Amino acid sequence: MQKLHKILIIFGIVLILSGVFYFAFNRALADSSSLEVSFLNVGQGDAILIETPEGQNILIDGGPDKKVIDCLSEEFPFWDRTIDLMILTHPHDDHVRGLIDVLQRYNVKKVLYTGAEDGAAAYNAWKNLIKELAIPLVIIDRPQIVNLGKNCFLDILYPRTSFLGKEEKNLNNTSIVSKLDCRGRKFLFTGDAEAEVERELLEEKTDLRADILKIGHHGSNNASSEYFLQIISPKEAVIQVGAENDFGHPTLRILRRLEKMNISIFRNDKDGTVRFVY
Ligand SMILES: [Zn+2]
Repeated sequence: MQKLHKILIIFGIVLILSGVFYFAFNRALADSSSLEVSFLNVGQGDAILIETPEGQNILIDGGPDKKVIDCLSEEFPFWDRTIDLMILTHPHDDHVRGLIDVLQRYNVKKVLYTGAEDGAAAYNAWKNLIKELAIPLVIIDRPQIVNLGKNCFLDILYPRTSFLGKEEKNLNNTSIVSKLDCRGRKFLFTGDAEAEVERELLEEKTDLRADILKIGHHGSNNASSEYFLQIISPKEAVIQVGAENDFGHPTLRILRRLEKMNISIFRNDKDGTVRFVY
């Protein structure tokens, strides 16, 4: 009888393990050949994970707290702890705080940021941790391209000048704006850049056209000007916003503007994590 018990227990363990491995390998196989862009449900803040067809993991911002860790563990198989590239758009807490937890738990290979100065505690803690972990740090002070393999690149469109060591009054307008162009799909990531940056990009005749737009500054009135949206002419827009936030994001005016232009709206507070897979 005891022998039967042992056999049943072993059989159970084998069954559970094979289930876990089946799920994990399936997930890994899907990841290795497809492009996945996930707007993570981190509440009031930004966090975007790009998984490229060649297997690189890129994280743009980390949201306001530890929530990003739960979101990442839903996206990655359990053995994958590598972030090839971490990008901080600008130093505000709702973008940088979660990145501290990511640095502590993941193997981050490289970091991009603008070097703009801010006395905020979280931003300083993030910078100190990068130094401690000796992670290569690249300062973005001009448009440039990050190559991600065949038919896939990240085009950094803004800033056009250096913010290194500068204390800007409005840090939102130091946000790194980038465009992912991968397998013919185009995503525009705007951080919290406001109309002033939008104007500058339009004046420079930057190629802004994209299929999917991450709406600037969580859907606030000071971003997403009408002409900017017209030039991008996205089919879909994602608003990274927390339920019942204190800022009134997104505003009715921006929602109406998007509706009028027939742009489909996805938002983290209503839809959870918003994922595009190609
Ligand atoms: Zn923000």
